[in-house]
Amino acid sequence: MSAITVRVPAKVNLQLAVGPLREDGYHDLVNVFHAVSLFDEVTAAEPFDVNPSAAPLGIRVEGDLAGEVPVSDDNLAVRAARALADRTGRSYRADLLIRKSIPVAGGMAGGSADAAAALVACNELWGLGLPREDLMEIAADIGSDVPFALLGGTAVGTGRGERLAPLETAGVFHWVFALADGGLSTPRVYGECDRLREEAGVAAPTPAVSEALLAALREGDVRALGQALSNDLQPAALALRPSLANTLAAGREHGALGALVSGSGPTCAFLAESAERAHELAALIKDVDGCRSVVTASGPVPGATVAG
Ligand code: ATP
Repeated sequence: MSAITVRVPAKVNLQLAVGPLREDGYHDLVNVFHAVSLFDEVTAAEPFDVNPSAAPLGIRVEGDLAGEVPVSDDNLAVRAARALADRTGRSYRADLLIRKSIPVAGGMAGGSADAAAALVACNELWGLGLPREDLMEIAADIGSDVPFALLGGTAVGTGRGERLAPLETAGVFHWVFALADGGLSTPRVYGECDRLREEAGVAAPTPAVSEALLAALREGDVRALGQALSNDLQPAALALRPSLANTLAAGREHGALGALVSGSGPTCAFLAESAERAHELAALIKDVDGCRSVVTASGPVPGATVAG
């Protein structure tokens, strides 16, 4: 095979419970991940340039968001491909092409998604045949959100988010995502969360998964799901980007069953009763101040998958 294309979804956090800061600099989390039908595509191809002095891993990014993504060894897809090659102890080569649709620094784990897709694509291209469990291990070393991008569906992550257990869900949930101008740095939002807690004199609680959320997912009860959505990072994201409060309020006013900041933001996620309601809601919030664009998507969807 001379080129392999993998499609990989964005995620929204249905619950993000943030515990105290650990000594290793991470927080203990309970993170309910949900994969939605907003996809990046990563193609791994045999290199065009066979010059042995050329870099072993080439990277290009296409799409409206391409300018915001590093085209260097810092790209998470390149890091993932390199980690996979290192694991085999051999030097493999590939040209990687990312077609970017997931917002960049938007709290939807787009970089992690590309890393997961690169693992799957290079595993195929190089004929390594590593099982998913091995890819999951490499993924966890790259970043906390990478294993979920391999798994997809809906799952609860514990530890720093990387220990995953799939969750049972019924039905399809319909979402609207309001993308904001510019990103928010994830470490900065966690730092602000710690600072706000310290200022208020509140100790971070031990994170626990919401039973109401699990029941809503199991029963496919969209109204109960809307009520159960929660994100401990939301106050910090709103402190750093006050305009997000308007976006959330507009969604609620126009009938969203639930509204929250996705992960560390600034993307806002709205749950709708049906696909039709999601499209109506998207049209109603697209002109709100601070909202760059809106997209609709549904979930759960599978994780990184070789495109047919
Ligand atoms: P998360 O939800 O996991 O906190 P995010 O969605 O907020 O992440 P990403 O889009 O994953 O943020 O990107 C965060 C930063 O990572 C970007 O600002 C960018 O500099 C860098 N980055 C590296 N590789 C990629 C990639 N393939 N796609 C997007 N960003 C990347």
